[in-house]
Amino acid sequence: MTFSARTRKRFGQHWLKSEPVLAKIIEAAALEKCDRILEIGPGTGVLTQRILPDVAELIAIEIDRDLSRRLRQQFADAPNFQLLEGDMLQLDWSQIAAASVDSNRPNKVVANIPYYITGPLLERLLGTITQPHAPPFDSIVLLVQQEIADRLCATAGSKAVGSLTIKVQYLAACEIICPVPPKAFQPPPKVMSAVIRLRPRSFPLVATDPTLLARLLKLGFASKRKMLRNNLAAVIERSQLLDLLTSLGIADNVRAEDLSVTDWVTLSNKMLEEGYSS
Ligand code: SAH
Repeated sequence: MTFSARTRKRFGQHWLKSEPVLAKIIEAAALEKCDRILEIGPGTGVLTQRILPDVAELIAIEIDRDLSRRLRQQFADAPNFQLLEGDMLQLDWSQIAAASVDSNRPNKVVANIPYYITGPLLERLLGTITQPHAPPFDSIVLLVQQEIADRLCATAGSKAVGSLTIKVQYLAACEIICPVPPKAFQPPPKVMSAVIRLRPRSFPLVATDPTLLARLLKLGFASKRKMLRNNLAAVIERSQLLDLLTSLGIADNVRAEDLSVTDWVTLSNKMLEEGYSS
């Protein structure tokens, strides 16, 4: 049994109470006996208790001191449960590995996190275009705000595409597992949520010069309604860009949101081949 707890607004606490959603999260994590799970924000332990029996180890990171104390009591008899009290955004990876009984790194992440840390958390878990987190996690299952889920999983041409879409899709394949209504939580949040699964790429589509790719994304998405040929005017001459786009089979009036992650990487690599540097 998990314990009941009052919620602290400042830690973005919303307890997940829907059995079907809990089951979906567990299913999406595809647990194996050898897995070492990193759970961020275990709260009252609803997910934790479902994961523990099926894995080698679970390292939970919880910022709330009272909850941490109660979790330690609740799982005192589970030798594969490790709790680290602290802020996931502040702890470094060596501290997290040190929490493991045999100093092993976790290979999967499962988390129902407060939504306001989603952006920085994704960056911690995936790294950045120029410094991908290595070795990559096998999978990352997260509950996030629906709007963010749509952004992360958007396909080229959709209005939901932004620079975050391409940055994250460069590092991981993203999929929406299921939508989650507010009533699945206690207290209910104001927004719709979704369970997503990210599978970090072990061999990301390689950008020869990641700095150039990062720069193209920054400029390309700088003003979203403009056509790419205008947004990129600072780095490449319009006629040369148009030639490049044509050679890649891309229309010359595209906007940043129309390009897929493969298009972006190919574009930056082609620019290099043709002698551009960042
Ligand atoms: N997983 C639980 C709790 C979700 S609420 C459930 O599904 O019911 C979010 C949890 O994240 C809370 O327990 C909160 O205290 C914790 N939390 C908030 N910010 C955190 C941070 N920066 N690092 C670690 N845990 C955090």
